[in-house]
Amino acid sequence: MKDEPANMEFHEVEERLRVAGIQPTAQRIAICQYVLNQKDHASVDEVKEWVDHKIPKVSLATVYNTLNLLVKHGLIKAIKLPQSDRVHYDCNTNVHGHFYDEESSELIDLTSDQIKVICNLGDDFEVDDIQVLINGKRK
Ligand SMILES: [Zn+2]
Repeated sequence: MKDEPANMEFHEVEERLRVAGIQPTAQRIAICQYVLNQKDHASVDEVKEWVDHKIPKVSLATVYNTLNLLVKHGLIKAIKLPQSDRVHYDCNTNVHGHFYDEESSELIDLTSDQIKVICNLGDDFEVDDIQVLINGKRK
C-alpha cells in the first residue's frame, strides 16, 4: 500500500486518463486505480488478479494492452527485471533507481539521497531515462 498520493477516486482517475489522451473505459479506470494507487511496482499477474475481482472477464491481453497504453502516454513506467524477465509497472515516473530484494522479490524505490548517477556525456547525447537496479538483501 502506498501512502502518497492519497487514493484517487473513480472520477479523478477518469480525468487523469482523459487529460493524458486516453479514452477512459471502465477496464482502464480499474487498472489505473490499481497501478496508480494500490500497488507499487505491480506485475501483470498482480494487476490481472486485482482486476478480476473488480470487473469479470477482462482478458490478460486487455490488461497487457492497457498497461502498455499507460506506459506510452507516460502515466506509468515499465521496469524490466533482467533476472526474471518480469515487468513491473511503476507509478513513479520521475527518474529514480531501485533496490531489488532477492529474498522477497520486492522492488524498492531509491531516493536521490540514496543513489546518485552522474552523466557526463557531453552535447552528443540527450538522456531520456536512466534505470539503475541494485540487487541484494534487505537486512
Ligand atoms: Zn519505482
